[in-house]
Amino acid sequence: MDDFPYAELWWRGIGKLAVIALIGAGVGAIFGYPALGALAAVLGFILLQLRQLIRLRAWLHAPKRHFLPDASGIWGEVFDLLIDLQRKNRKRKKKLALMLAEFQASTAALPDGAVVLADRGEISWFNTAAHQLLGLRAPQDLGIRIPNLIRHPSFTEFFEAGDFELETEAPSPINRNRMLSLRIIPYGNEQKLLIVRDISERRQLEAARRDFVANASHELRTPLTVLRGYLDLMEMDAQGAGPLAGWRTPVLEMRNQALRMEALINDMLKLARLEADRAHMRDELLQAPMLVMRAVEEAKAVSKGQHRFEQMVEPDLLLLGGETEFYSIIINLLTNAVRYTPAGGAIRVSWERAGEGARFAVADTGIGVAPEDIPRLTERFYRVDVGRSRASGGTGLGLSIVKHALEAFDAKLEIESEVGVGSTFICRFPQHRVQDAASVALAAAERGADPD
Ligand code: ADP
Repeated sequence: MDDFPYAELWWRGIGKLAVIALIGAGVGAIFGYPALGALAAVLGFILLQLRQLIRLRAWLHAPKRHFLPDASGIWGEVFDLLIDLQRKNRKRKKKLALMLAEFQASTAALPDGAVVLADRGEISWFNTAAHQLLGLRAPQDLGIRIPNLIRHPSFTEFFEAGDFELETEAPSPINRNRMLSLRIIPYGNEQKLLIVRDISERRQLEAARRDFVANASHELRTPLTVLRGYLDLMEMDAQGAGPLAGWRTPVLEMRNQALRMEALINDMLKLARLEADRAHMRDELLQAPMLVMRAVEEAKAVSKGQHRFEQMVEPDLLLLGGETEFYSIIINLLTNAVRYTPAGGAIRVSWERAGEGARFAVADTGIGVAPEDIPRLTERFYRVDVGRSRASGGTGLGLSIVKHALEAFDAKLEIESEVGVGSTFICRFPQHRVQDAASVALAAAERGADPD
């Protein structure tokens, strides 16, 4: 129970009523009708209460047009409390309006676009940067669903998928040359905040860096080819009894280092090209089983019979994408398995359906990788054991190439490994990249029968 004085108020009210009834009865008694007098007094009292009630009702209806009368007793107290409440509310409203104005002013000053979306993605509010980046206009665009305004497929897909842990990128709807990063943060009751950031400059810097690496690698290639040509000749001479016979070891070492540089430059070029052309990979129908078998043959040549190969390849499982990219993936994983598996070990290769998509896996019984190194393997030049990688002809870029090539296929790399037991590298290709040889043949036959 709170300490509100219910009893006191009740007694005060009843007392007042009793006094009024008594006065009425007294006045009535003068005329010989005490009961009638009491009744008239109580009725009058009730009418007065009704009047106050009606005034209160009028004030509640339009507080600005009506005013609360000065009253005594409990009505006076009620009116005072109401006016107090009204004053407090006004103060709170003013404070909230000020806060909202400040919030809007600060978000308006943000360099990032912010758009508040209702439960189905309808725009309820946006800041100045959102207007500049997305071309949103008020009030025309308020209430319109955001996917109707940002029509790029990557955003539509991202919005409908509803996985807002990720972010997506799309060109600005009002300026194709500006690249935007889009993030959605769900909050409150099914509401969402869309954050838009201009990443064109970052993209340009990345492109400049990529171009530099690609150009530098390309420029280094020609002088290196000349050096290697002469080193090849010198090596032949050094092997025999010619003037360079005494230089056999240094010449051999120089030639090996030149070969290593060549491998490095080739991988750097490959990586730069993959990064630059990720979105532009040509989609061809790849005879994936045949390519896997070709890569296995190549790996066998590297192994020189030191490893046992097992393969399980589904012959009618075809893939949609670029041949260079796919071959880079499989050959890098296969040569890694050969290089990091001691002689006598086994290498198992599989290309098969998995769920709706396809799975390419290379499992070896090699040296394995410690758990803390696994997440870093796809970083450029990350090697668990630099000496071993170099000795086996590694450039430190193989798995980076694999990762980037897989991104072009919308595929994912999974690595399972145990030190001293072996490793399995699994590539998961999504359904839209996978084709069935039988249905491709059927579609071709239908097209042949119906030349439309
Ligand atoms: P590298 O040219 O050095 O092989 P990669 O990018 O292909 O470069 O691989 C990075 C590192 O990952 C390697 O140096 C090696 O330490 C590790 N690694 C890759 N494949 C395997 C494997 N099959 N077994 C054990 N370690 C591996």
